[in-house]
Amino acid sequence: MIVMKFGGSSVADAACMGQVEALVRAALPQAPLVVLSAMGKTTNALFEAARTAEAGDLPGALAVQRRIMAAHRRAAGELFSGAVPEGLDTALTEHFGELELLLRGVALLRELSPRSMDAIASLGERLSTRIFAERLGAAWVDARMVLRTDATFGEAVPEPESIRGLAARLLAPLLGEGRVVVTQGYIGATEDGLTTTLGRGGSDFSAALFGAALGAREVQIWTDVEGVLTCDPRIVPEALPIPELSFAEAAELAAFGAKVLHPATIQPAVEARIPVTVRHTQRPAGRFTTISSEVRTGRPITALASRGPVTVLTVSSSRMLAQSGFLARLFEVFGRRGVSVDLVATAEVSVSLTVEADVPLKPLLQELTAFATVEASEGRAIIAAVGERLKSTPGLGARLLTALGDINVEMISMGANEINLSLVVRADQADEALRRLHRVLTEAA
Ligand code: ASP
Ligand code: MG
Repeated sequence: MIVMKFGGSSVADAACMGQVEALVRAALPQAPLVVLSAMGKTTNALFEAARTAEAGDLPGALAVQRRIMAAHRRAAGELFSGAVPEGLDTALTEHFGELELLLRGVALLRELSPRSMDAIASLGERLSTRIFAERLGAAWVDARMVLRTDATFGEAVPEPESIRGLAARLLAPLLGEGRVVVTQGYIGATEDGLTTTLGRGGSDFSAALFGAALGAREVQIWTDVEGVLTCDPRIVPEALPIPELSFAEAAELAAFGAKVLHPATIQPAVEARIPVTVRHTQRPAGRFTTISSEVRTGRPITALASRGPVTVLTVSSSRMLAQSGFLARLFEVFGRRGVSVDLVATAEVSVSLTVEADVPLKPLLQELTAFATVEASEGRAIIAAVGERLKSTPGLGARLLTALGDINVEMISMGANEINLSLVVRADQADEALRRLHRVLTEAA
């Protein structure tokens, strides 16, 4: 079997759902389990309704609820050319009633616990899957019967062992060639049956969990890009889809805020050695990215990403010369203050490191200057060149630095896993640096 996950933008309206229907029908021989997000921005609207109710504005909350209702009724109406099957119509009415009750409760108490929020948020996925399953004549499974989690509402932790058992019992018998099963992303339930969610954007995580539990051949993440790109296309228009990406590369890129799946969300699939593909719903025959545990082909630089602004701290001490314990003392200060350090580069008498731009500098510097000289350079950015083959490509570093030309590099760091070469430049030069480095990426064979 395969898992096909469609995000909110893929099921935003009736036309989008029609497109998804065609994709699922084409995949029938592969025994698909379809995992859907809520339609478009429904989850945002549910949060808005809940917060409005919490503020005591029940009419406002119910107005949002009616907006949600109208969008779903419209989609259902269009998908069934006005003749919405009675069963679906009843189900939708029940869901809207449940939402209204929850909102009234929240407004009455002016209290919105994470537990209540999850109950409200779950309606987005429950609604979208109802409509879609009916349209396909597919089996509809309530993910809360299978996706067992702990009780950390709003960010529940899944319990893979239980999920495997429940999936084998409740999902596997429904799956098969020529058939479709539709279920929800994002939502789950505790052992006691309390509704939970995996956190915003959690549908990818659900897809990976279902895939791992069922031993899927592939987990397909259908979205609105042709896979993961070599760079942010808003900065580098020539950015290209990456055919193959390793899990480690995806993790590095995600840490730089690249628009890739959050690696934690696909970890269950990767651990089970199930390839995860990222595909474009509107261009199914186009390019896509396969993320797997290991990748041995491809370019020396797989992708580029940047993050900023950051602050570079250069800490020097003449006493550091031939001394031990200096780094321990230095990092103890950061540790105690809860300041996370990103890149580190050491020289004989100094250490350079980067911290987030919003770190309160004053008290930190005060403490550090007690035993060292500190220089702070604000408004810097980290550029990362990521690739499994970086370390085995001679001369690449030189080519990157040459390509940067007159852009000054203030710090260089090769990640311990040797797949991330990070450079620090002035933040206002970061975009141009990415454009120049991207030329090396496309040239380097
Ligand atoms: N519908 C949820 C959200 O918007 C989950 C998801 O789309 O992945 O956060
Ligand atoms: Mg989403």
